[in-house]
Amino acid sequence: MSTLRDTLASGRPSFSFEFFPPKTEAGTRTLWNAIRRIEAFAPTFVSVTYGAGGSSRDRTVAVTKRIATETTLRPVAHLTAVGHSVAELRHIIGQYADAGVHDVLALRGDPPGDPGAPWTAHPDGFSHAHELVSLVRRSGDFSVGVAAFPERHPRSADWDSDIRHFVAKCRAGADYAITQMFFHVEDYLRLRDKVAAAGCDTPIIPEIMPATDVKQIARFAQLSGAAFPDHLARRLDAARDNPADGHRIGVEHATAMADRLLAEGAPGLHYITLNRSTATLEIHQNIQNSRSAHALAAGR
Ligand code: FAD
Repeated sequence: MSTLRDTLASGRPSFSFEFFPPKTEAGTRTLWNAIRRIEAFAPTFVSVTYGAGGSSRDRTVAVTKRIATETTLRPVAHLTAVGHSVAELRHIIGQYADAGVHDVLALRGDPPGDPGAPWTAHPDGFSHAHELVSLVRRSGDFSVGVAAFPERHPRSADWDSDIRHFVAKCRAGADYAITQMFFHVEDYLRLRDKVAAAGCDTPIIPEIMPATDVKQIARFAQLSGAAFPDHLARRLDAARDNPADGHRIGVEHATAMADRLLAEGAPGLHYITLNRSTATLEIHQNIQNSRSAHALAAGR
């Protein structure tokens, strides 16, 4: 199988979908319905997030392995350094290698409970993502991804240090990066240009989060700190009691963003699914339709 770096270098945009490990039987059924629907579209990869601790972490490993063994999909396993010794991280990476999972998104993570609390490294662990990138690289035949932040990482003192540390983790061996969710295309373009100006050509895949419900906005801010456009907040608020309208507005906004990102040369799109497929597949299909229409108009 070609590596993700090769796929991204091919010039054809990648498209990928992100899931989280469910806690219940009903959640597992919902997830697998979404996975099977998405599988039919042959995405470039799918990814599974890594929780703050305990059983949720075991579920990440189990879901990722199941995707590797029971589907045609390429799973990317998120992995964080939170609360792990290097020996534990090596063990998890080894489990992935044994299950045929060769793609890891290497993350530092946040303190469990309060993501804004001061960061404390495990006494035998890592302090920053670049160390995990190197470990995964040294551990076998893995493609490694890292996180990127269009509005810079909330803990970075300034843009200069943010970009310097981002470039360092790319140079430690990252093949690609995936961004935090964001709602203004300009934020992605600014990050991409700053990284390029620092001499780094690691492809940065923008993350697309369809916002379909006004009640999600506070949660987005808590999770990512991403600035939410006032005009979109007002439209979603007006659709507060009409979920179908909210869905249409969210899909419309995300489609317009995704379209423009690809037109600006983004190497792909990474959709957050929240374990459901409807909104993200609609956006994906809208994008495919508009790309076919452009190609037709250009006589290709
Ligand atoms: P780092 O790259 O280590 O950066 C963290 C901060 O430290 C930054 O401010 C950086 O500038 C600074 N820094 C880096 N290196 C140095 C250095 N050498 N010296 C001083 N400062 C330095 N979290 C989860 O828990 N589970 C997930 O599954 C998950 N998936 C994610 C997926 C994506 C696409 C993204 C964008 C984020 C995800 N996160 C996840 C959140 C992520 O773990 C947090 O945002 C975390 O705070 C930063 O992780 P990082 O890998 O970017 O850390």
